[in-house]
Amino acid sequence: MDTIQYILTPREAFIAEQQWRVVKRSVDARQRELRVHLTILTDDNGKPIAKDAAIPLYAPPVFQDVHKAERSVVIIGAGPAGLFAALTLLEHGIKPIIYERGKEVSERKKDIALLNRNEGLNPESNYCFGEGGAGTFSDGKLFSRSKKRGNMQRVMELFHYFGAPDTVLYEAHAHIGSDKLPGIIKRMRECIIAHGGEIHFETCVRSLKEWKMENGKWKIPLILAIGHSAHDTYRMLAAEGVKLETKGFAMGVRAEHPQVLINKLMYHLKPSAISRQDSELIEYVGNASYSLVTQVDGRGVYSFCMCPGGHIVPAGSEAGSCVVNGMSASHRNSPYANSGMVVQINPEDIEGNDPLKGLLYQEALERLAFQQVSQIKNEKLKIKNYSAAPAQRLRDFVEGKASKDLPACSYLPGIIPSRLDQWLPAHIGKRLQQGFRDFDKKYPGFLTNDAVIVGVESRSSSAVRIPRDPESLQSVSTPLLYPCGEGAGYAGGITSSALDGINAALKIAELAR
Ligand SMILES: Cc1cc2nc3c(=O)[nH]c(=O)nc-3n(C[C@H](O)[C@H](O)[C@H](O)COP(=O)(O)OP(=O)(O)OC[C@H]3O[C@@H](n4cnc5c(N)ncnc54)[C@H](O)[C@@H]3O)c2cc1C
Repeated sequence: MDTIQYILTPREAFIAEQQWRVVKRSVDARQRELRVHLTILTDDNGKPIAKDAAIPLYAPPVFQDVHKAERSVVIIGAGPAGLFAALTLLEHGIKPIIYERGKEVSERKKDIALLNRNEGLNPESNYCFGEGGAGTFSDGKLFSRSKKRGNMQRVMELFHYFGAPDTVLYEAHAHIGSDKLPGIIKRMRECIIAHGGEIHFETCVRSLKEWKMENGKWKIPLILAIGHSAHDTYRMLAAEGVKLETKGFAMGVRAEHPQVLINKLMYHLKPSAISRQDSELIEYVGNASYSLVTQVDGRGVYSFCMCPGGHIVPAGSEAGSCVVNGMSASHRNSPYANSGMVVQINPEDIEGNDPLKGLLYQEALERLAFQQVSQIKNEKLKIKNYSAAPAQRLRDFVEGKASKDLPACSYLPGIIPSRLDQWLPAHIGKRLQQGFRDFDKKYPGFLTNDAVIVGVESRSSSAVRIPRDPESLQSVSTPLLYPCGEGAGYAGGITSSALDGINAALKIAELAR
């Protein structure tokens, strides 16, 4: 077997994809004319392999029955890191016992619907907590910037095995979508339980002591896959002597443009109305996304977790705070394009030596954002908008003007005009203002009052690291504790967190030999 690479027009690529076994696809929007890079599988004579040839896409996983397994592992958290760790343990004949503070995915959906209708936040069941973790109601982008961490393709294969579309196997910037992810997560749970693993929902682990023996050693290996939003759990870990340290993170806002504008800017379409040809092109390559980065006063300012055709969502997990993030359905077909726009924050930017100082800083900004809205709520609008968010038109923000009104926005709980230019800390606000000017130089028209920024995007990455030994992956303070995934500070995003979970499980499997 070999491969052959083509650079094609979108139409040619569409036709080729119907016929041949594609192993890699990426869209190149850098030139005026869009091009699709396709890599196709061939036989030894260079002849392309048909799409439906009887050649397996990959070796399917083999899960063992662990009902009576000799070895068990406790996993705290059923996000990508916890679930992929559990699946890997099953492959090695080890029983996973998962504790998840949130609810199973179908029940979780109901709490999220309440949140979007402003009927209150369930602090244990929301966009961050519950089966599948923070990745369940997301855009489901499946890529990681780092290729060094291990077998990324295996993560894609497992997602595919549990029901993700074929594109996850070959698309450079694959995504699944929040309509498909819950079903995939449910099938993973069913597989874990069918093979003898355990999942305990609505069970928040508030102490690790029950797994500790009198001599201070652990009864059982523990995989800590708590994500980065469980601030109470970090506090518990600190109190129980697990070593934590501050790490750099990023905070800012979420910007939302009309998708049609982003398509024009990124695909170099004519400024007039979208033609039929343009629509066909977009139908094949999908709504455009962007990835922007600049440096302002020694700190990175960049777009983060861009969601074409998506929605802005309330992603907080504590009452009295305002946090936003973004998600999209598989077709990415809402009329809006949103993205986090964040500023890098280094540990030395925050005073003090407390390893949790980054968390405290995030929490302070989230409360500040909530206060902007709650003040207005009470005084003027008289509405009980627990999850409404403060917002400002983009050009107004950059020029330091109040927005008299706001454009239509995908954020279901509602947005309220606010002076983000005035209340965001200057080192974030000023840098964002300059960042938007820089992005407009690259894509003239990006800085427009048809776009809106919504605050605050504060949970783009973990502000804490749980340091671990690079070889054993065990906590440096607490042997047999395996901090992994985003909350451990060693991953960011669905794919890298899943892979980190796999790696932790593989280390434990090695111990068993
Ligand atoms: C709205 C949104 C959209 C996103 N979109 C994308 C995207 O498109 N692509 C991408 O790559 N990433 C995206 N992300 C980020 C991604 O979801 C995370 O990076 C990823 O889920 C981290 O995986 P994890 O398993 O490490 O942690 P999490 O997914 O956060 O899972 C941790 C789990 O642990 C549970 N938990 C925490 N503490 C305890 C405790 N004490 N006891 C029991 N259970 C506990 C939580 O309830 C949670 O379910 C998005 C995040 C959000 C919020």
